[in-house]
Amino acid sequence: MIDLKNLTIENAHKGMKSGAFTCRELVEEYLKVIKEKNPELNIYLEVFEDATAQADVAQKKFTEGTATTLTGIPFAIKDNMLFMGHKVSAGSKILENYKATYNATVVEKLKSAGAVILGRANMDEFAMGSSTENSAYGVTKNPYDSERVAGGSSGGPACAVAVDGALFALGTDTGSSIRQPASFCGVVGLYPTYGSVSRFGIIAMGNSLDQVGPLAKNVRDTEIVFNALSGYDLMDATSIPDNFRAQIPSEVKRVGVPRHLLKGEGIDLELMENFEKSLTKLKSAGYEIVDIEMPYTKYSLPVYYIIMPAEVSTNLARFDGIRYGFSSPGKDLMEVYKKSRGHGFGREPRRRILLGAYVLSHGYYDAYYNKANKIRSLIINDFDNAFQKVDVIAMPTSPFPPFKIGEKSDDPLAMYFADIFTVPANVAGVPAISIPNSFTKTGLPLDMQFIAPKFGENRLFEIGKKFETIR
Ligand code: GLN
Repeated sequence: MIDLKNLTIENAHKGMKSGAFTCRELVEEYLKVIKEKNPELNIYLEVFEDATAQADVAQKKFTEGTATTLTGIPFAIKDNMLFMGHKVSAGSKILENYKATYNATVVEKLKSAGAVILGRANMDEFAMGSSTENSAYGVTKNPYDSERVAGGSSGGPACAVAVDGALFALGTDTGSSIRQPASFCGVVGLYPTYGSVSRFGIIAMGNSLDQVGPLAKNVRDTEIVFNALSGYDLMDATSIPDNFRAQIPSEVKRVGVPRHLLKGEGIDLELMENFEKSLTKLKSAGYEIVDIEMPYTKYSLPVYYIIMPAEVSTNLARFDGIRYGFSSPGKDLMEVYKKSRGHGFGREPRRRILLGAYVLSHGYYDAYYNKANKIRSLIINDFDNAFQKVDVIAMPTSPFPPFKIGEKSDDPLAMYFADIFTVPANVAGVPAISIPNSFTKTGLPLDMQFIAPKFGENRLFEIGKKFETIR
């Protein structure tokens, strides 16, 4: 028996290196947990049949002496990442039996390090949502309370890590989708600097916002995976070349808190009390807590919900019943399009395609899309100004603890409000990390979010590791 609960990437590596257990034994332990937990929690849409074969390939690297830290480490991918020869559905019926014809760069990188992909984990359809209730394959349940959601859209990956169904997972974050499910499942989640990790081979949601990032049990594991993922990729036009990546000193002294953004209806009071307590602890640990003003950042949520659907409507145009996946027969081409898209997409993608087409349409482009982009620049300025004064910004990840299944699924605006504290980082393209904090009186996980300037991931890891010791 391997003690999965206390296993970290580094001590799993030691275990395999010393021969305490083999790669296959480790993978089989995880497969056992998945078999036991998946029927109840609905974490994985598919466990890959070749997982143990991948472990044997990894074992060879140990025998040959070419193993590195991630060799043999079992992990989950979100169902929107291409792994050649394996199904990838983006949580949608329209791609139900679609198989990837090449590897996403992030998959390629981890595969060549010898890490083992256990399977593809559940998500909201095309990554749209905050609860995985929009998945065409059923909701993923919260590991702390199975009447509640695991968060979204990377609910499957987050839950996998939380219940020891994977040692780490990859998610994507367009507006919250790594950090918010990490918060709801009590694990760490990182949204990296926009342009730092390749988007090649990821089923796109919002191209100017999407990043792939790790979900893991602690900050150190998150750091190891991020370092393996990050780097320039010729195949992604928005990937930032290595010589344009700023070198930011990792030391953190001043923590900024935009208190004016943290007030208002719908924000949980117990959660805010806990957040204030955490600030006190940070202060006792020697950090200076500084009030900061970010006057335009309050518009992040409306800006996001204009720019994101605009990009969604463009990206999802390719799923037309001809080129990919599900196709419904019709008397002419238009009918094929209509039926395939009408039946293939669920409600949320259809809603966002309509919203996006509207804000991009001739008569409304200036009023909505253009205006949102202008405000986006002002929000970027807010962050630039803030980082003149402080090293990182602290705020909660989620405005409320995990909610009940069904509680918000008929109210899109209530669901969108879940993103209030996470979308500012995406709109500005700056890195942010969600770290488990304490628990509510009823035992639900709470979080702490730190945000850094572009390429300031090292700052997030530095203060994050400290926070883990004082929370
Ligand atoms: N809650 C966000 C949304 O519904 C999540 C998007 C994401 O990060 N993939 O748009």
